[in-house]
Amino acid sequence: MNATPEKPAVAKKAVTKKATAKKAVTKKAVAKKTTTAKQAAATKTTAKKTATKKAAKTAPAKAPAKKAAARKPESRVAMVRRARRINRELAELYPYAHPELDFTNPFELLVATVLSAQTTDLRVNQTTPHLFAVCPTPEDMAAMPPEKLEELIRPTGFFRAKTRSLLGLSAALRDRFGGEVPGRLEDLVTLPGVGRKTANVVLGNAFGVPGITVDTHFGRLARRFGWTTSEDAEKVEADVAEIFPKSEWTMLSHRVVFHGRRVCHSRKPACGACAIAPLCPSYGEGETDPEKARKLLKYELGGQPGQRLKPPADYPGQPAPPMAPPVAAS
Ligand code: SF4
Repeated sequence: MNATPEKPAVAKKAVTKKATAKKAVTKKAVAKKTTTAKQAAATKTTAKKTATKKAAKTAPAKAPAKKAAARKPESRVAMVRRARRINRELAELYPYAHPELDFTNPFELLVATVLSAQTTDLRVNQTTPHLFAVCPTPEDMAAMPPEKLEELIRPTGFFRAKTRSLLGLSAALRDRFGGEVPGRLEDLVTLPGVGRKTANVVLGNAFGVPGITVDTHFGRLARRFGWTTSEDAEKVEADVAEIFPKSEWTMLSHRVVFHGRRVCHSRKPACGACAIAPLCPSYGEGETDPEKARKLLKYELGGQPGQRLKPPADYPGQPAPPMAPPVAAS
């Protein structure tokens, strides 16, 4: 009988122990659950953070430079780095960039460049074969009757003023430079009709002297790229010269002009098909729809003939056609 009351006590103890153990297990389980949940939440947060970081890293490279520039003004160092990257990308895009005037010697290049004012290189290239066949040297050209020369160059427009320049520069080459084109800027700019732009074209492409050629395309793109704010060709030249090493000047000029003629047009730039859009603060000035933009591409990028009748061997496009013969009157 004595044992009877003892039994429930032991049992009670055992039950209490069991209950405590259960509580401990439950606590452990809850703790484990909480830890797991916490861990999962932490892992999720880390993953989210990594993805965000990754996205943040990727986004600026893909996003148009305009948005980044709008957030933060660009430092001079960053602008120079971006400019040099644009040059490298353009070099990859146009490894065959070259002057788009046909010539075989410095005199032909000088004459062709003077003729290229206010007209296309194509029109000049279609005009010069006959011109150079008739007057291949400065002496021959200087001896031409003005009316005859006017007729020969008429297709290039402004033919009276251009005739005066050609006669003047041919006579100057004959009388002051022994019939040779001088290889110095200070001499070239003394020739009638020859300014810095023409002189730089001749120096860079016929004499291997580095030069920046600021024509309408180069000036427009230099402003769109944020390399300059000036509309003045000489100031643009000086601003760009401070960004790039001299050894790059001539090829940089060709690449930028190539891009201006093919993609970054004056009125409707093909932003949606532009390889350097992520580096360009003016992205969005033109067509951004890729499909529509692709239709705006010109010359070899648009599947059309180029400007030179005799392009260099590595040019991937088709040569330009010769001048169409005049239609006979019926
Ligand atoms: S086409 Fe558009 S994105 Fe490309 S260089 Fe010109 S303005 Fe910039």
